[in-house]
Amino acid sequence: MSDTPALRLLSLGAGVQSTTLLLLAAEGRLPKLDGAIFADTGWEPDAVYEHLDRLEEKIAKPAGIPIYRVSTGRIQDDVLDPDKQRSLPAHTAGPWYEKRDPIEHEICPEACGWAEFNGDKNDDDAPEECATCHGAGYVVTKWGPPYKTRDLGMLNRRCTQTYKLTPIMRQTRLLLGAQTSDPKPCRYCDGTGERIAPWRAKRGDHTPGPCSVCNATGVLTRVNQPPKGVWAETWIGFSTDEIGRVSDRGDTRYSKSKHPLLDLKMSRTQCESYLKHRGWTSVEKSACIGCPFHGNAEWRRLRDTDPEAWAEAVRFDKAYRTGPGLRHERFLHISRLPLDQAPIDRIRPSEWQQGDFFDAVYDAELAENGDPDGCSPWACRSGAPVDASDAA
Ligand code: SF4
Ligand SMILES: [Zn+2]
Ligand SMILES: [Zn+2]
Repeated sequence: MSDTPALRLLSLGAGVQSTTLLLLAAEGRLPKLDGAIFADTGWEPDAVYEHLDRLEEKIAKPAGIPIYRVSTGRIQDDVLDPDKQRSLPAHTAGPWYEKRDPIEHEICPEACGWAEFNGDKNDDDAPEECATCHGAGYVVTKWGPPYKTRDLGMLNRRCTQTYKLTPIMRQTRLLLGAQTSDPKPCRYCDGTGERIAPWRAKRGDHTPGPCSVCNATGVLTRVNQPPKGVWAETWIGFSTDEIGRVSDRGDTRYSKSKHPLLDLKMSRTQCESYLKHRGWTSVEKSACIGCPFHGNAEWRRLRDTDPEAWAEAVRFDKAYRTGPGLRHERFLHISRLPLDQAPIDRIRPSEWQQGDFFDAVYDAELAENGDPDGCSPWACRSGAPVDASDAA
């Protein structure tokens, strides 16, 4: 592999950090960029698209940096489409059931000694599981009053990979000179563009619909690997406060990540003041309108400044609640209440102490401020880096 990249590309999320990188390159304070790639989920607030348009007109075009807008589809439509198997992360709540908690317990009256062995069934010396305590080593002598509860969870985040990383990597390969394969008939629908989706069939629903693999076109093409040894330096806008998210797991044979803000030792705050200095005063956090990682501050901002987007999020939240074959309900707000009833004006966690079932899981910081790092194709909020090799 050659030591010099064939191309320098910016992963442009249109938030504070990547906007800073674009400006720095345009001003010549960083090496010249050959292009910037914006992955469009189709569901950003208008302000983000407007910002992107302005960036293109005022900064990118004059500096000769093309902006490539790439997309996998419109996330908000895809996840509600029964013929597509796409999902948005969500806060989930299972069916209600009655529960009692143990208040008092005593050592198992059988003196079974089970607890000493920590229930290690592979230990030859361990006693048989005791019929009285069922292996707990103790029995409950007093139960609390019954109450209704439901099991809470969170759906995995796959959207960043599907809607951001995958189209960015595809565009990177194309720019590096990869060939697109000749169209072949789609083997999932036998080239008809229509099929019974396997997940529908599993539920006994045999309604045919558009094939989601070939997008109803009946043909499949793929973008192959670029020529050997040709690679791109991919700039990612992690600032010094996000150092924990940095990893090279996003790297592939043809794309190596670079973090110029770290080399410049720039924090998010420094990026903000740099942008302000250049007249870019209000750069939005880029994220989907209905992203369940929004905190209350972001939900309030949406409701109070972009009523149309808010109404759309409320509608989506309702439509996304249940789906065929689902036992749990899905919610955009962490309180597991419908978005238009969720307590987004409550700021202090103490105000939540009302005996609601979600108190136990309420994370004050996340609920108010949301995912502090926004949505990056290169890292997810659980801290686990995404793997670009899946994105081919
Ligand atoms: S903003 Fe939220 S919903 Fe949209 S791609 Fe990122 S994590 Fe997914
Ligand atoms: Zn026992
Ligand atoms: Zn097909």
